[in-house]
Amino acid sequence: TSGFISIIGRPNVGKSTFLNRVVGQKIAIMSDKPQTTRNKVQGVVTTDNSQMVFIDTPGIHKPKHKLGDFMVKSARNTLKEVDVIMFMVNANEPIGGGDKFIIDLLQNTETPVFLVINKIDLVHPDDLLTTITSYTKEYDFAEIVPLSALNGNNVERLMETLTKYL
Ligand code: GDP
Ligand code: MG
Repeated sequence: TSGFISIIGRPNVGKSTFLNRVVGQKIAIMSDKPQTTRNKVQGVVTTDNSQMVFIDTPGIHKPKHKLGDFMVKSARNTLKEVDVIMFMVNANEPIGGGDKFIIDLLQNTETPVFLVINKIDLVHPDDLLTTITSYTKEYDFAEIVPLSALNGNNVERLMETLTKYL
């Protein structure tokens, strides 16, 4: 199996830390799926039976100002081209305006969206549940995966879950 995954989320949630942990050194794209210039490859993970291409989706990261209709449409179209969207959030911070902006862009996309709650090493399990609920109220996520990109806790489980969607 092979497929494309977009990691989205506001700054400092741990997107780069996650990529650094999972992405192999060898960048060789052998995927048979079409690739567009809109998507920038950030890293490739190759295992015995799967290949995952992590890509950057411009237009939905740091909204410094209100995006025009064209930009919103472009970001939405890009999200349609991937197999899975990983929406990464901070376990130790409540949902904020930046998160809600991204969730708005996700409405009416058919691409499955994973809620990836990063930095679980920083929170008590009871508080984690409250955080998760604040997100699931806003969107119907295909999967909910709490993990720590820093210490690797549950990262392997996320990778296994991703392959089910490719
Ligand atoms: P990005 O802006 O989304 O790419 O976030 P970074 O990967 O640059 O991470 C922002 C900060 O959060 C850095 O100081 C990371 O070391 C820290 N960080 C990332 N993941 C974790 C985690 O799972 N646990 C903890 N405690 N810190 C993390
Ligand atoms: Mg980064």
